[in-house]
Amino acid sequence: MKPLQRFETGAGRIIFSFPARSFPTLTNNIYVIDDGEQYVLIDAGSGMERPNADLLAGFTAIGEHLGRPFSPADIGTILITHGHIDHFGGLPFLRQYTAAPAGVHVLDRRVLSNHEERMVFAYRRLETFLEGAGVSAEERVVLMSVYLFSKTYYRSTPVQFLLEEGRPTVGGFGVFHVPGHCPGQVCLLVDDVLLTADQVLSRITPHQAPESITLNMGLGHYLDSLDKVAALPGVRLGLGGHEDPIDDVPGRVAAIRAAHDERLGKVMDICRAPQSIAAISRALFGHVDSYHVLLALEETGAHVEYLHQRGELIAANLEEIEATSRPVVQYVRG
Ligand SMILES: [Zn+2]
Ligand SMILES: [Zn+2]
Repeated sequence: MKPLQRFETGAGRIIFSFPARSFPTLTNNIYVIDDGEQYVLIDAGSGMERPNADLLAGFTAIGEHLGRPFSPADIGTILITHGHIDHFGGLPFLRQYTAAPAGVHVLDRRVLSNHEERMVFAYRRLETFLEGAGVSAEERVVLMSVYLFSKTYYRSTPVQFLLEEGRPTVGGFGVFHVPGHCPGQVCLLVDDVLLTADQVLSRITPHQAPESITLNMGLGHYLDSLDKVAALPGVRLGLGGHEDPIDDVPGRVAAIRAAHDERLGKVMDICRAPQSIAAISRALFGHVDSYHVLLALEETGAHVEYLHQRGELIAANLEEIEATSRPVVQYVRG
């Protein structure tokens, strides 16, 4: 795990970064920005015991660097980049130390402030998606219990303000709404440094899920958001929600887009004969275990949905779909 990192924007503002081990296989980058007037915290880890401890250790490390005590009580404002549990789950923990106002984009507010309700709605839509994808009833039970995991420990926490594109926020940071990976994801421009959240990461292509489960997600929105990020002028450095700093943001965007184009091409190849989403997912990703089955199905579903929305794929079993209340859709090249 990397220790404390320090970046300086073109205007001389300091961005500290340290890791929080949100889950056994997932490390988040936490950012603390000295905006000249106050310290702004970007994201909060998952809220599990280990990342909570990492948060406190990160603040201590910043204090050692500054040569004075530093803790979450020194934070002036909290910004949450998007409504995924590894980014906002630590908010209730931080509330023990600070009353700093927390902000998130309006389309992700409900995930933070009314988590239980939002999870129940998403759960029902996920069930419909998995049924239509051709996942067996037994497997659906397992996958859906995984999905509800965050409900077991996160408790809804109010947000104090909303991030909106074009509206100035703390520090004069630029706010850019980039839906797709999550409905309300934002990238934040701090002078010439872009905090890319999970929109652009240095190594992996950020996860996609179909819009049929959650509105304003889906590959179409995500690819539009990629174009938006690539077109932002004056970005010298990208700092993602995970992984390493990105020196060439437009170059990384092009590589991610190429990866999706390749995957779309593979789906079209697989669908020379009619296939369910579950079968396409197995053909794309092989046999994966536990949580990765759900991730693979969502990723596949996002690509199939994108092609279906555009008429590249069509349903091969329309009569069955019309006659059945919960049909498995077989997709074929249009
Ligand atoms: Zn995310
Ligand atoms: Zn993430």
